[in-house]
Amino acid sequence: MSGKKTFEILDKIFEPKNREDIEKIKGYTMKYGHILDNKEIIDEVLVSYFKAPKSYTTEDMCEINSHGGNIVVRRILELCLKNGAKLAEPGEFTKRAFLNGRIDLLQAESVIDVINAKSEREMKTGIKQLEGFLSKEIKEIKQEILDVMVNIEVAIDYPEYDVDDVTNSQILNMLDSVEKKLIKLEKSFDNGKIIKEGIKTAIIGRPNAGKSSLLNAILKEDRAIVTEIEGTTRDTIEEFVNINGIPLKLIDTAGIRKAKDEVERIGIEKSREIANTADLVIAIFDASKELSEEDLEILNIAKNKKSIILLNKIDLNPVLDENNEKIKEIRSKVIKISALNNIGLDELYNEIMNLFNLNQINLDNELIITNVRHKNLICEAIKNINEVRETINNNMPLDIIAIYIKNILEDLGNITGEFVDEDIINEIFAKFCLGK
Ligand code: GDP
Repeated sequence: MSGKKTFEILDKIFEPKNREDIEKIKGYTMKYGHILDNKEIIDEVLVSYFKAPKSYTTEDMCEINSHGGNIVVRRILELCLKNGAKLAEPGEFTKRAFLNGRIDLLQAESVIDVINAKSEREMKTGIKQLEGFLSKEIKEIKQEILDVMVNIEVAIDYPEYDVDDVTNSQILNMLDSVEKKLIKLEKSFDNGKIIKEGIKTAIIGRPNAGKSSLLNAILKEDRAIVTEIEGTTRDTIEEFVNINGIPLKLIDTAGIRKAKDEVERIGIEKSREIANTADLVIAIFDASKELSEEDLEILNIAKNKKSIILLNKIDLNPVLDENNEKIKEIRSKVIKISALNNIGLDELYNEIMNLFNLNQINLDNELIITNVRHKNLICEAIKNINEVRETINNNMPLDIIAIYIKNILEDLGNITGEFVDEDIINEIFAKFCLGK
């Protein structure tokens, strides 16, 4: 519970072992006791006390830790409601933290990201934003603009000082510097998207090439299979795996497994279909055999995609290598593996990192944008920077230039939530689960 009446309501339903005046109870303490409904004991609980303003929402708060179980929890909840509490809307606790000024919008949105994180790296990025790193960067950029704005205001208010020229070059320098920083943030979005959504990966190859063995080898390496997502139909299960902290979203893992019983092989058409929706295609071939007609079709599918050519079963006597004419036509580089013996998987993972430029950035230290709303606002700000340049080129008066500069400030302010309107706020918080 959070709000002014928290302790009043708590008092009606909670019988602590040692009753103390609420004034005497310090924040960040716990009390042991029972939840009572008209003398009937509902559960033995621990209650944490948080006193305003030192709480998540900055209001008086308490948390009731019960033994759990649906019925007990529901009865405690009903008791709270009966005694004057109202059910929190999705994200309402975080929304209050925002509206009361304890966190900015960017941090509030990061709470959603942390809750919904599918990989450790995504969680870390979320936590970093939660700690305010991105907010700080945005604030610094804004300050850079404001510093120049001060000079502009002076020039407008005291036109007798002839500072126009200085200000123009000052403005242009500031715009360049700000733009550089914003472009860097904008570019980080691609990586952010990968971290957040995973690289959609299709494994294709003719029957017996080793798809299913590769899938198993990859899944075995991953200590934390995060989730199995059921698609619209049963046979489009996708699985998340973490490779060096980068989530791969393996498409159609059910199809690959099913293909094991000879009846339901994945046909070329299906492979093409899956490959089309993928960010990355892993095409796997049996290196112990010459390329078949079907293999050539698979090569063809891989040709126009971001793809990796795997030559599997190198533990047998390989007859295929990177010198094969047909393969050479498509890729100069192949990776030789043995899915059955776990050989070559590291090389495969490195190649994935290379293909998506994930090696170049140190994901742990880089600020990364993962939220489309933030990205759009940054793009908008970059656009507005160019508007300012144009007004300067067109020799517009300073007060007009100032208006355009304020647009940039507004875009940035929207990211941290200084100027956002209520609808957007409601939309953002509706993405939360209940009671967060
Ligand atoms: P899929 O039909 O493409 O899924 O192929 P599977 O993964 O079912 O593999 C077909 C056969 O090749 C199975 O008998 C595997 O044990 C075997 N196989 C897969 N990878 C290797 C490998 O690296 N070396 C050897 N010797 N056999 C393999």
